[in-house]
Amino acid sequence: MLRADYPLEARGLRKRYGGKEVVAGVDLALAPGECFGLLGPNGAGKTTTLRLCLGLTAPDAGSVHVLGVDVIAQPRRARMRVGVVPQMDNLDPDFTVEENLVIYGRYFGESDRRIRARIPDLLEFAGLSARAKARISTLSGGMKRRLTLARALVNDPELIFLDEPTTGLDPQARHLIWGRLKQLLAERKTILLTTHFMDEAERLCDRLSILDHGRMVACGAPRELIGAHIEPQVVEVYGENVSAWGEQHGRRLAERCEYSGETVFCYTGDASALVQALEHRPELRYLHRHANLEDVFLKLTGRELRD
Ligand code: ADP
Repeated sequence: MLRADYPLEARGLRKRYGGKEVVAGVDLALAPGECFGLLGPNGAGKTTTLRLCLGLTAPDAGSVHVLGVDVIAQPRRARMRVGVVPQMDNLDPDFTVEENLVIYGRYFGESDRRIRARIPDLLEFAGLSARAKARISTLSGGMKRRLTLARALVNDPELIFLDEPTTGLDPQARHLIWGRLKQLLAERKTILLTTHFMDEAERLCDRLSILDHGRMVACGAPRELIGAHIEPQVVEVYGENVSAWGEQHGRRLAERCEYSGETVFCYTGDASALVQALEHRPELRYLHRHANLEDVFLKLTGRELRD
């Protein structure tokens, strides 16, 4: 049964391009105030899933409801109370910061007067109060992202879609965006985001789905996924001939080893014997750490390059 109180509910979404099913049966149900992440290698179908949920692409099968509105029947109406931060900034370079907000707000049928009344708050949220009259070309990458995020709030949305919100930003700018997203979550906004950054997903998402080849291969809270899919401890071992060491000793001392270039990743419930053995191998360096979401991601989607 459809959960009318859920801001986003998608069932059995499918989309095929040129004989290839790029979304192959995706289900999503986002509770109010939840931050939900879509993770997956390049080409996994994340952006297409977002576009299906927004009614920008028609599915071959399945249903989507956004804030109780049937997206397939009424895509425009469904988008009225939704905010969108696309992967690429598409601010209008011919206009100033505040003009960009006004023009975008008109799309939602808001009067210029009402939009202008909201602009000081939006600019403050974006940390751009002093740049209201600035041209877009004079803004840094981080400022443009913050403005795009503020622009997505112009219609006071309950549900916000963010496609890779921090790709291309430096660490300072990423932390700033994370702070703003946390602020929106504290205001009980619901967020669906795609990301390639596992730390971003671990930090922000209440739950997430890992997508591969258009299918959801795992779904749950970050801690739950780590507990369910990965041994709790990891020892990364680097150095010359590390593969030979892995074959001879790593395999014996860890439950599972993965090889990637000059590194052996040893996964285990108890790393003490492994660490002790490595103390006698000064030519090898190692890092002993807790398992994280990236380990889950690589286990489920593999280490081969995509695209
Ligand atoms: P992701 O966001 O996970 O990187 P996408 O949803 O962008 O993945 O793409 C999934 C697959 O669908 C890719 O192989 C991509 O080339 C293909 N694709 C996406 N949009 C189109 C389109 N409009 N026409 C044809 N193929 C597309």
